[in-house]
Amino acid sequence: MSEVKEFKTESKRLLDLMINSIYTNQEIFLRELLSNASDAIDKYHYLSLTDEKLAKRNNYEIHIEIDKDSRSITISDNGIGMTYDEINDNLGTIAKSGTLAFMKKLEEQEASDQKNMIETIGQFGVGFYSSFIVSKKVVVETKSPYSEKGYRFTSSGEDTYEIEEIDRQSDGTSITLYLKENVKDEENKIETDFDQYLDEYNIQYLVKKYSDYIRYPITMYLTKEEPKLDEAGKVIENEYDEVRTLTTLNSMIPLWKKNKNDVTEEALNDFYMQKFYDFEKPMLHIMFNVEGNINYNTLLFIPNLPPRNLHSIDYEKGLQLYSKGVFIMDKCKELIPDYLRFVKGVVDSNDLSLNISREMLQQNKVLQLMQKNIEKKILNHLANLQKDDFDKYVEFFKNYGINLKFGAYENYGAKKEMLQDLLIYETLNSSKMLSFKEYTEQMKEGQKDIYYASAKSKEEILAMPQMDVVKKHGYDVLILKDDVDEFLLKVLNKYNDHEFKSINQASLDDLTNEEEKEKIENLQKDHQDLLDALKEALKDQVKDVVFSKRLIDSPVCLVSGDGVSFEMEKVIDAMPTNDKIKAEKILEINPNHELCKALDKVYKESPEDIKDYASLLYNQALLMEGFKPTNSVEFSNLMCKLMIKSIEK
Ligand code: ADP
Ligand code: MG
Repeated sequence: MSEVKEFKTESKRLLDLMINSIYTNQEIFLRELLSNASDAIDKYHYLSLTDEKLAKRNNYEIHIEIDKDSRSITISDNGIGMTYDEINDNLGTIAKSGTLAFMKKLEEQEASDQKNMIETIGQFGVGFYSSFIVSKKVVVETKSPYSEKGYRFTSSGEDTYEIEEIDRQSDGTSITLYLKENVKDEENKIETDFDQYLDEYNIQYLVKKYSDYIRYPITMYLTKEEPKLDEAGKVIENEYDEVRTLTTLNSMIPLWKKNKNDVTEEALNDFYMQKFYDFEKPMLHIMFNVEGNINYNTLLFIPNLPPRNLHSIDYEKGLQLYSKGVFIMDKCKELIPDYLRFVKGVVDSNDLSLNISREMLQQNKVLQLMQKNIEKKILNHLANLQKDDFDKYVEFFKNYGINLKFGAYENYGAKKEMLQDLLIYETLNSSKMLSFKEYTEQMKEGQKDIYYASAKSKEEILAMPQMDVVKKHGYDVLILKDDVDEFLLKVLNKYNDHEFKSINQASLDDLTNEEEKEKIENLQKDHQDLLDALKEALKDQVKDVVFSKRLIDSPVCLVSGDGVSFEMEKVIDAMPTNDKIKAEKILEINPNHELCKALDKVYKESPEDIKDYASLLYNQALLMEGFKPTNSVEFSNLMCKLMIKSIEK
């Protein structure tokens, strides 16, 4: 019985690409096939724990065989194999969605990047196709314990493939690649050498390079020349015997179980890029063992750039979980707190039972404990980085600082103590970003509080009227640029004994000395009528109109009450919620400014006009805070009206 079937459309396109292009990294096909073989053994093992139909095995093996005569290389495993339907689903359609996603992504890339992209093929569930990079024909023979029969799949990567029944008793899969002819140039020099995959030592090298940590033995016969012996057992000079010995090519020790000192930076980078499908080396790696009630090895990475969907709900956090070197699950989310969702890596514990079910995992106290430890280790590592390599820490913080901020903000600041010293901010006076600790160490004499302002730049802060008195003292100001910042500082409330204070909140009295305060309060008493009139004119918009203690050169400003700040109002406004909370607004007028005298004059000479001026002042103050005028058209008309009036005079 033999059937000819058509590949699904998307698969065809991908196959075309594999067949017709030559990639510098063609050797990745071996890694992909070995990883499939290893996955297949994992599956067998996992199922055999609960399904009696599957014989228990302890002879798992992946075997490579090279046949120079037929120019083929065969990779066999005694894993789960495939049923008839599975062949069609897995090899004929090849992870439908994966293929499509891969093609889309590939087409978006520049030609030069396409090559890199091919390396990530495994991520899209289309690794099997990479065999066609080097093969003109691929033959898969397989049998599943869930099928009576074995099957052979044959394809030369064109539109169709063939399936036929075969006589095969043992569960598992053998994949034979018939290599393409070498590509030669006009002078008959080899340009692309496919024969290299027939070289035992090259294959050994590639296995070591890409698949060393695979937990099952990858075996191959290696040919060695040994000196020939005569009958008496003495060496005959210059004569050799060819000896073929079955050799295990991989060390089988997962990288994360190796001694830290035996692992090179390069091996770690390679491991990360392969395992987590990244084009780039990681920014950081963190490797540690925990010994105690629960023992585990951990190897963590922080990607050089955060994944684009890191902050969307479809991003899945989690670490790969292994038990005694056996893979359990890909993204165990219990192992990592939410705010550290960008961390990738592997955790391997000897103290988790192998057939632990996923439901059980979810409530596992052990995992919670592990999470706590892992979190602590990561934060320690970051603290050391902050201390030892600040430039790199800044780079880290630019990418992931926002996550730490959310971590500190979450649950009303429950993790404040753990996280606050890891936060750094640009400040008005310092050329380098500062932690709260550094800020407080550099405070001026007499300064009690930590000042902050939300702004896009130093220039913007310097132009704020509320800065008058802060500038006079020469105090430094944290520049807040993220939406979460003001919420976060509200939650933190204090750093040691130093309160966080916004430069535009009403309660900023301590910057003015008693004498000046008294002076202003007296002035305010004298002009209470004017202030009351202004307040009356703005009664729905402001909570109060007062003489300012913070303004020195500027005429007016708007400050907020103690609750929600202006910045918070803007953030809340942008959120898809109906609970719009407004900041309390207080209009402050500089009693020493020309404007104040002018207002006083208007109030005395034509009190009916004070309403217009109040509205104008208020809207200007709103504009300075980055709000829109309450009614833009009215505001503009009012300006015109007053302009005409002043010109007519
Ligand atoms: P992925 O490994 O990401 O799923 P691949 O293209 O590498 O994608 O493989 C497609 C599917 O083919 C696998 O998911 C698996 O079901 C099946 N497969 C591939 N190789 C083997 C194998 N050696 N044994 C059993 N099944 C295999
Ligand atoms: Mg694969």
